[in-house]
Amino acid sequence: MTRSYANLIDGEMVTTANTLDVVNPATEEVIGQVPACGKAELDRAVAAARRAFPVWRKTPVENRRAAIMAISAAIKDNADELFRLLTAEQGKPHHQAKGEILGAAGLAAAQAGLSLEETINQDDATRLSRTRRVPVGVVGGIVPWNFPVMMAVQKIVPAILSGCTIVLKPSPFTPLTTLRLAELIKDAVPAGVVNIITGADELGPLITEHPDIDKITFTGSTATGKKIMEGASKDLKRITLELGGNDASIVLPDADVSKVAEQLFWSSFTNAGQICVAAKRIYIHEDIYDELSQAIADYAKTVKVGDGAEQGTGVGPIQNKKQFDRVCELIQDAKDKGYKFLTGGDVDPSGTGYYVPITILDNPPEDARIVAEEQFGPVMPLMKFSTVEEAIERANASEYGLAGAVWTGDPDKGVEVAEQLETGTVWVNEFLHISPLAPFGGHKQSGFGAEYGIEGLKEFTYPQVITVKREPA
Ligand code: NAD
Repeated sequence: MTRSYANLIDGEMVTTANTLDVVNPATEEVIGQVPACGKAELDRAVAAARRAFPVWRKTPVENRRAAIMAISAAIKDNADELFRLLTAEQGKPHHQAKGEILGAAGLAAAQAGLSLEETINQDDATRLSRTRRVPVGVVGGIVPWNFPVMMAVQKIVPAILSGCTIVLKPSPFTPLTTLRLAELIKDAVPAGVVNIITGADELGPLITEHPDIDKITFTGSTATGKKIMEGASKDLKRITLELGGNDASIVLPDADVSKVAEQLFWSSFTNAGQICVAAKRIYIHEDIYDELSQAIADYAKTVKVGDGAEQGTGVGPIQNKKQFDRVCELIQDAKDKGYKFLTGGDVDPSGTGYYVPITILDNPPEDARIVAEEQFGPVMPLMKFSTVEEAIERANASEYGLAGAVWTGDPDKGVEVAEQLETGTVWVNEFLHISPLAPFGGHKQSGFGAEYGIEGLKEFTYPQVITVKREPA
């Protein structure tokens, strides 16, 4: 069934004459049309956000928190409808889509409680000096296709909590659930505070370079992040960039193979590997390499690849054709080089749906493309190491620095290794856990700034220092 969706501009749901088709990656059928906005619609949305800003910034923070709680409730109350739509456009299995929807509602509720307190710099007989945080103004939010709802909510919530207003652009591949959400939250905030507009990739640079937008918060690839930094430099917009990763896991020799095999599998293959913080390189100590790699491959064979809407599916399709082609190219390169596959590798190019079989490689070299590049698909290279120092060095030999993990029977040892990894997040004996209250951001070319927690909230504000001389003029 296909349906037309509208954009949220200035408190109204609006359509455009031109539309974009949205495709279900499991069936390759068109399931919806969304507005194809250009400069005129963007100007309207930015003007609405600009008009709403002076009032919203002065709206008591308790009212802004209440608006966010209303958004959280709208997501939770409609979770069933939203997660099914999310699976249809994104491809992830129903249980994972439900996790994303409820996670977004939980994130909103948790972040609604954050406070940016004033700090006192000096308070004595001479003067009172205090630092307060003031909202930067109109925010442009740009979102990718792997976690469309979570990413939209994680941009809207801190923006409006801080007193900013926002114009958000979903990915053209996955705009439907976000636009359904727009309908549901339309009345939770005054007109113009939240605007959601859709368009092709060309709409992104128009946002980045719009003279009346004060800050860009972007999640997506490192290549696009660099373009955004360049575009935003023209008028020195504030930017937060959450970019790509080539996240390494290190499995120490004391890890319990029977416990970690399944967890390692899902650290890599959740959302068909299309997670910025998914394990994309797994280094296993040589003492347990054979046993653990076999256990992971055996487990992989029990996982069903299929339409996310079908019961029992563990790994869905790749979200779009472009990414599907890229993952196929990496697999083909590995075949051409003669690397050994523990499982998978045979893509059916004539089948319907962007399906890639679960593919696990057996100890390819460090310079293999499938190791050195972010795969962003259901493909995982397992590599053997001899010493911990060597594993740390190999894990850190990347331009990326998003996340990593250490698996061990000795948590203290795990922390010792974790502290030597050059990434913004490191897990010991778990994976993919991201707290809405802790800063999340990449080191090196995985990002700029951070989202989540107080650090993330501060990025939507400027510090302002007010100094009062005690002796009146
Ligand atoms: P992408 O960079 O192609 O697109 C992301 C968004 O940017 C889309 O909305 C797109 O329309 C828009 N866009 C494209 N070109 C633009 C331009 N020149 N200027 C402004 N906007 C533009 O990324 P993607 O393929 O949608 O997502 C996959 C990538 O995102 C992966 O590299 C992944 O690691 C990364 N990612 C990072 C995080 C994180 O938190 N660090 C989270 C999820 C995904």
